[in-house]
Amino acid sequence: MVAVGGNSLITDADHIAIPFQAETAAVTAGYIATMVAEGWRVVVTHGNGPQVGFILRRSEIGIHEVPPIPMNYATSNTQGSIGYMFQRSLLNEFRRRRLDARPVALITQVLVDRDDPDFARPTKPIGPHMDERTARKHSSEQGWKVVEDSGRGWRRVVASPKPREILELEVIRQLVERGNVVIACGGGGLPVFVQDDGNLKGVEAVVDKDYASALVARGLGADLMLISTAVDGIALDFNTPQERWLDRLTVAEARRHLADGHFAPGSMGPKVEALIEYVAATGGTGIVTNPPNLPRAVAGETGTRIVPD
Ligand code: ADP
Ligand code: MG
Repeated sequence: MVAVGGNSLITDADHIAIPFQAETAAVTAGYIATMVAEGWRVVVTHGNGPQVGFILRRSEIGIHEVPPIPMNYATSNTQGSIGYMFQRSLLNEFRRRRLDARPVALITQVLVDRDDPDFARPTKPIGPHMDERTARKHSSEQGWKVVEDSGRGWRRVVASPKPREILELEVIRQLVERGNVVIACGGGGLPVFVQDDGNLKGVEAVVDKDYASALVARGLGADLMLISTAVDGIALDFNTPQERWLDRLTVAEARRHLADGHFAPGSMGPKVEALIEYVAATGGTGIVTNPPNLPRAVAGETGTRIVPD
């Protein structure tokens, strides 16, 4: 399982445009192709925090001319657009290396609880970072809920229910068993709940892709769950003078640091929780690293590993 962060596709504020994101995705795709060449069977998942925020903002600006896009449809758009970036760049890599693997992006739906408490308590940052004044303005004019995000500026936050089941898990399994590299759970998947009449209904919310990825990794019994994000690992006292980066921590240590508040909710918190869940359930290895360090992190030379107790 290689889970690629939506934020990790944007290297800096001057490289937000789609061609730059596609270039960054292509670099990550090159490393994933190396893993495939080494014999790994890979499922790629990806986030969409900044990208889904851009789509919603376009929709708000265009409201007088075109109907608005519900949040879950905005996420399904990113399953297409980011899925396309990875499907194309992985295919390029596989062809160049004459690998037999075939990449395929899959629309993925995720079951959530209708009465998940997170609906009432939005925590998931989306869209670009803003200064506090702009954030407060959106808050009073558009009714956004806004928070300060890990020292990087202010961001809009939305409801983020926990995923309970990946509805396309068996399809993912079948595709992977046949040698396909599956790109699934884009933006955490499309949240749905079961209505009283038994039909699935879409929900306007964003599932954190780290939790959804852990469910896929557990369901498939993956040997490795690697989270590729904007930083090369997990730190204690992040963003303070006492900051220290960790090479390795056990599930018990990770649980303790999580309880002590070292990992921000909505960013590093979900990653550590997701890896704890996956490692504790499977005995596999969890890794946090950033795109340029991906191959070295798989080789155990950098990044942070979460291992069984
Ligand atoms: P992604 O798009 O990959 O999910 P997020 O922004 O959600 O990225 O989460 C990764 C970010 O979490 C890092 O870039 C960093 O700014 C922030 N962060 C918060 N706490 C920590 C921590 N303890 N160690 C490392 N990074 C942290
Ligand atoms: Mg995230």
